[in-house]
Amino acid sequence: MTESESQPTGLERDGTSLPSSAADLFFMREALKEAKKAFDKDEVPVGAILVHNGRVIARGHNQVEMLQDATAHAEILCLTSGSAAMKNWRLTGATMYCTLEPCCMCAGAMLSSRIDRLVFAAPDLRVGVCGSWIDLFAKEHPIHSIEVVRGILEEESAALLREFFQATRKKKKHESRSVCAHQ
Ligand code: ZN
Repeated sequence: MTESESQPTGLERDGTSLPSSAADLFFMREALKEAKKAFDKDEVPVGAILVHNGRVIARGHNQVEMLQDATAHAEILCLTSGSAAMKNWRLTGATMYCTLEPCCMCAGAMLSSRIDRLVFAAPDLRVGVCGSWIDLFAKEHPIHSIEVVRGILEEESAALLREFFQATRKKKKHESRSVCAHQ
């Protein structure tokens, strides 16, 4: 499928006119593009985008290694740039699309930013806080609640992560072999 074929009609003008499932698919593809950017930079491939009134207002991909910053998760970078774009730390009405279930830091930042919806693709069994490790949203928050949708393009996102970790393991094996060969 080409890029133009995959784009639902009329989305550029007003994404909200689409059924939410079609819009969710479209925007998750955009988040996956961000994840691929991270992949190409040897970062764990996680991508996020923020959508407001049917338009992408911010994009982000994991940059923990490049910035040597444990907080440089895709979602955090995306929230920072979304707030800058809106000139407002309150991102009421925004939806975050993320290729991986968020960690507690990112979910906390989403609550603080007052986004309306979170849509994620693959579960993160080790640190995911939408039920995989803990369920942060199970208990109603006193100030703000976020609608959570899961599993949009789950397979594609999980496959990209698998590919990354397989390649990383292979690279490490190769490196340790060449170190041995030099000894
Ligand atoms: Zn995170």
